[in-house]
Amino acid sequence: MSESADLLALELPWRLALEEGWAAFCAGNPPVGAAITDSDGVVVALGRSRFHDHSGPVGQLAGTALAHAEVNALAQIAPGDHRGWTLWSSLQPCPLCAAAAMTAQCGEVRFLAADPMWAGAERLPELNAAVSLRWPHFDGPQPGWPACWQTALSVAYQTARGRGDSDAVTAREQMAPGAARLGRALGGDADRLTNLVKLTLSAAIGELLG
Ligand SMILES: [Zn+2]
Repeated sequence: MSESADLLALELPWRLALEEGWAAFCAGNPPVGAAITDSDGVVVALGRSRFHDHSGPVGQLAGTALAHAEVNALAQIAPGDHRGWTLWSSLQPCPLCAAAAMTAQCGEVRFLAADPMWAGAERLPELNAAVSLRWPHFDGPQPGWPACWQTALSVAYQTARGRGDSDAVTAREQMAPGAARLGRALGGDADRLTNLVKLTLSAAIGELLG
């Protein structure tokens, strides 16, 4: 996997979303990051999960289970018609974040790794015609190493907290056994984890996937 794990080969919003997710993980949060681009493709907002942070930037959630990466990115854009805008997330948005993207009138949502805990969430726009009309277009999961990295980090996060037998891990092992194995090994090795979070994203990717 190492020869293909080239961070610089990714589109900028993906790189930034992964950087945000890595920063979240290194700070003890679920490893999820997000970016928003406007209709010109310019990055206008970044966000990361802040479940366990004591504080965050003004206008963003921290220290609550609602402090999701996508919500924190979307909270930075002014109300308006953003149908030409794109929310980029390292992980498939949960229903909270998917609904937030709809409410913010963001037209497109792209994500790297599937989140099997939310399998079936693609049926949410079937609720009614109004929701269907406003629901963003979803694009994901993406192939390749970034999704593997994301899944491994998600499993490492759970495993390191003693939740290696949780539904979230089991579902990922069924979805992507190789990535889950990397994540379980990392999450079960406290010394390795301590050293890994000292690295830059690029170096950490090389260490985990190399
Ligand atoms: Zn979410």
